[in-house]
Amino acid sequence: MKDLTCFCLEDINFMKIALEEAFSAFHQNEVPIGAAIIYENTVIARAHNLTETFRDITAHAEMLVINLASNYLGKKYIRECTLYVTVEPCIMCAGALFWSQIGRVVCGTNNYKRGFLYTGIKLHPRTQFLSGIMKKKCRNLMHQFFLLKRKNHP
Ligand SMILES: [Zn+2]
Repeated sequence: MKDLTCFCLEDINFMKIALEEAFSAFHQNEVPIGAAIIYENTVIARAHNLTETFRDITAHAEMLVINLASNYLGKKYIRECTLYVTVEPCIMCAGALFWSQIGRVVCGTNNYKRGFLYTGIKLHPRTQFLSGIMKKKCRNLMHQFFLLKRKNHP
């Protein structure tokens, strides 16, 4: 796992797509996390968290887009792809990303409670990792969602 500190305009544009997905999740009462996978500058997969809708704890945005991208490309390794995800992946998704050998992972905001970064779990050595793109928007959406949840279910 290589850490990168710089990002470009392209990263912001693709993160906006992941954010659109996160907003869709929010309006469906799903934890607002969205993701998109890009191959040769094209979005080949986009999805948001659907664990409530599918009643399936594996239906995280990242799992769904990995699956869609593999199907689209017809292969299990998606080394030439970049994942944009609004929130740092959990350990399950980091594991799936490891196995996918994805080329690059770009995330919006860190997730200190449920993210993989502080668990010692690593992405694949060939995967570049970058965090902090549109951080405030990604984080605010999560905060808003959990505030509303607590308000409705004290
Ligand atoms: Zn996950």
